[in-house]
Amino acid sequence: MSAAPKVTPTAPSMLAMPSPGLPPFDYVRVNHPGKVVRLLLEHGDNARLLMGGTDIFVQMRDGVLAPQIVIDLKRLPGMTNIRYDPARGLTVGAAVSMNALAAHPAVIAHYPLLVQAVETVASYQLRSRATMGGNLCNASPAADTAPAALVLETRCVAWGPDGERVIPVKDFFLGVRRTALQPGEFLARIEIPTPPDGWAGRYIKLGRNAGGDLAIVGVAVMGYPDHSTSSGYRFKVALASVAPTPIRVPEAEAILSANPITEDLLAQAARAAEDTAKPIDDLRGSARYRKAMTRNLARRALDDVWHELRKER
Ligand SMILES: Cc1cc2nc3c(=O)[nH]c(=O)nc-3n(C[C@H](O)[C@H](O)[C@H](O)COP(=O)(O)OP(=O)(O)OC[C@H]3O[C@@H](n4cnc5c(N)ncnc54)[C@H](O)[C@@H]3O)c2cc1C
Repeated sequence: MSAAPKVTPTAPSMLAMPSPGLPPFDYVRVNHPGKVVRLLLEHGDNARLLMGGTDIFVQMRDGVLAPQIVIDLKRLPGMTNIRYDPARGLTVGAAVSMNALAAHPAVIAHYPLLVQAVETVASYQLRSRATMGGNLCNASPAADTAPAALVLETRCVAWGPDGERVIPVKDFFLGVRRTALQPGEFLARIEIPTPPDGWAGRYIKLGRNAGGDLAIVGVAVMGYPDHSTSSGYRFKVALASVAPTPIRVPEAEAILSANPITEDLLAQAARAAEDTAKPIDDLRGSARYRKAMTRNLARRALDDVWHELRKER
């Protein structure tokens, strides 16, 4: 009988070490916006805001953040409300969960693009905690709701020491994990105007697997009839995961307004999206692959939207 193979124990340092858990912190649940402002001004960088916790707790666990105080905003008035008014559009409290947003009848009826984008985020379980407000405030280049927010010309309404301030989402992202929120400010709600009549939208995300991975590339396109343009249509195009922030693609949008829409023009606009993309290499994909996929996905999203728009005629 041959001897059993000798097993050499793996040194502990060679094993994947379990994460050490969260560092200690004080948890404060607030129910008045003025108190949030006071705490933020008092504690500065030592304070962090909490909504669903799906980003902040991961970052704390991984040692990226170590706040002394975590301020839970979910009980502030209006933070979990969703309101729709045909004239004013959609108002979403910053702490509305993604599942609540995607299941709301007005969102399903009037903002299917938003539902598409939300439903690409992670898993159903995660979306019962994760919020669109947190997705925008985390300011990841890969934030899946950001391209939809950009093409829908969303307004971020902040509350701060001087009261309310409206920040168009195009000015909200300043860099990786950096937003235009000033010291003492927090995101209170998101306002999304009612899109023009006859519009169509599409969000396409490429991840490493079918469910629950961050985007290698994300492309949102919306289009609508507009008789003031030479093409008779206006398109808006935005990208995730191919630049330090989610971005619009004005070059593609201009091409599609200025000329009659043809197959060639859609291909030209998709190439403009590829040219605008300035991705990096990372573990999810190389810059070269991301650029090629930006063109590919932009073309597919443009085709889908154009197809919908033609059906409406
Ligand atoms: C397993 C897993 C998979 C994921 N997959 C995806 C994915 O596919 N696509 C994707 O886009 N994201 C993904 N994420 C990231 C995350 O789920 C989203 O970004 C989520 O929307 C964050 O919302 P939240 O409410 O959990 O934010 P939180 O974690 O509570 O907060 C996020 C950040 O915003 C700050 N913040 C919170 N509230 C406010 C406020 N009111 N004003 C200002 N700042 C505030 C926090 O301090 C923190 O820095 C994934 C995360 C995990 C753990």
